[in-house]
Amino acid sequence: MKLTNFPRVHITHGPTPLEFMPRLTEALGGPNLYIKRDDCTGLGSGGNKTRKLEFLMADAVKHGADTIITQGATQSNHARQTVAIAAKMGMKCEILLEDRTGFKDASYKKSGNVFLDHLYGAGVRELPGGTDMNAAMATVAEELRAAGRKPYIIPGGGSNPIGALGYVTCALEMVNQFNTQDLRVDCVVHATGSAGTQAGLVVGLEGTRSLIPVLGIGVRAAKEAQETNVYNLAVKTAELLGVPGCVRRESVMANCDYVGGGYGVPTPGMVEAVTMVARLEGILLDPVYSGKGMAGLIDLCRKGHFKKGENVVFLHTGGAVALYGYMDAFGDLKPL
Ligand SMILES: *Cc1c(COP(=O)(O)O)cnc(C)c1O
Repeated sequence: MKLTNFPRVHITHGPTPLEFMPRLTEALGGPNLYIKRDDCTGLGSGGNKTRKLEFLMADAVKHGADTIITQGATQSNHARQTVAIAAKMGMKCEILLEDRTGFKDASYKKSGNVFLDHLYGAGVRELPGGTDMNAAMATVAEELRAAGRKPYIIPGGGSNPIGALGYVTCALEMVNQFNTQDLRVDCVVHATGSAGTQAGLVVGLEGTRSLIPVLGIGVRAAKEAQETNVYNLAVKTAELLGVPGCVRRESVMANCDYVGGGYGVPTPGMVEAVTMVARLEGILLDPVYSGKGMAGLIDLCRKGHFKKGENVVFLHTGGAVALYGYMDAFGDLKPL
């Protein structure tokens, strides 16, 4: 696997820490719980899109782009991180935000990631839920080309084979940390959405024959669709990397029982998970992704799916900025 074959902008603050979570482990009484801190990747308050953007932005430069176009939900972390890196690299950025939740409160519409999008200087276009976002981005690209600009489109979540290379690098980084810290890992768990993170991890962990399984906790699609999306992207990523055939279908596993009412819609499990991890470990999760991912991990520990003595690593993909857009979901927080 030769990642140096691909142009890359090195901006990730890494290796990101791998930490034990003693108080959460004790509270649940199940496996030893570790956390890989990809919320600390740097770039506009951090998160998993930093690693993808290293490869995507280098590709944009290679194509002579001067403007980045991307899309996401209103409180998209991906959009916010893309705007931040565009600012850093002296490019313009147009983001298209889809109203996937219909939430009307000012904190959701204006605070959190949306405030940062404007602060970093993006052109922000709001579109109704159900819009064909890829078609909408193509239209914006046409407009920009007509005005003499050179647009480069990054898909939602930065999830294409180039972006997924970022999570191949994370897989290699983790395997190295596990080996040097003598940590025998039974499973890596994380929130899975647009599929690039899980696809990259699976390619990295399978391609190195690490024998470490990955479990994605879904935040939007149903299990079958999510696993298919991840698998298809993993296959293409492996081909791009020159290791075709390294991904087995059985190694792509998603559990989509924790989505609740839909993408970005709070669940009681998410509120419990975010509050527990804040109060036991001082770590901020997010309401859309890592909060639901952790809700899944907590439930699976309680059900005995993961057992005492096993070592489980939760990959923290970031997103805490969105908490400011979701304060209402937490109601009146009582002191401990
Ligand atoms: C985008 C995102 C994810 C999901 O990653 P995908 O590569 O889209 O599956 C998880 N957590 C956070 C905080 C994100 O912003």
